[in-house]
Amino acid sequence: MSTCDLQSALSEIETICQQKAIQLTPIRKLAFSLLFSAPNGLKAYELLDKIKLQKSSATPPTAYRALDFLLEHGFAHKICKLNTFVACKHLCHHADTPSFLLICPRCQHVTEYDNDSVNHSLLDALAASGFRLMEKEIEITATCPNCIAQE
Ligand SMILES: [Zn+2]
Ligand SMILES: [Zn+2]
Repeated sequence: MSTCDLQSALSEIETICQQKAIQLTPIRKLAFSLLFSAPNGLKAYELLDKIKLQKSSATPPTAYRALDFLLEHGFAHKICKLNTFVACKHLCHHADTPSFLLICPRCQHVTEYDNDSVNHSLLDALAASGFRLMEKEIEITATCPNCIAQE
C-alpha cells in the first residue's frame, strides 16, 4: 500500500498503533509528519530543529526517542549512506519483509521501492543458500527517472 498524502499516512499509523497497542504521542506524530514532508529526508539534528520550532520544550532526548520509536515500528527508515531519516511510504512492512531504498546519487532523492516479487525472490534465494537476511533496509544507489531525463 502506498500512501501519498500526510493525512492518510497519519490515519494509517494511528490504526496500526491501535492494533499493536502502542502509543502515538504528539511528539512521535510530529516527528513523522516532519519526515513525511521532507522529500529528501532529514538528518537527526535537522529533525530536532524542526521539532523545536513547533514544540519549544522539546529536548534532544525526547526528539531522538520519538525517532527511535518511528524506526522500531517501521514508520521511518534510516538511510546510512546519507545519514538521514525518511518517513516510510508504505507502512505495511512485515517484520520479515525488507524494504529497498533507492538513493539517487545526483539529487539524493530516496524512493522506497516496494515490490513483493523482488522481496520474496531475495528471501527465498537467501534461504535456499542457508542464509537469513538481518537487514530490514537495503540501500541501493540508482539514478532516478528525473535525473535520467535530464541527461
Ligand atoms: Zn518502508
Ligand atoms: Zn535524481
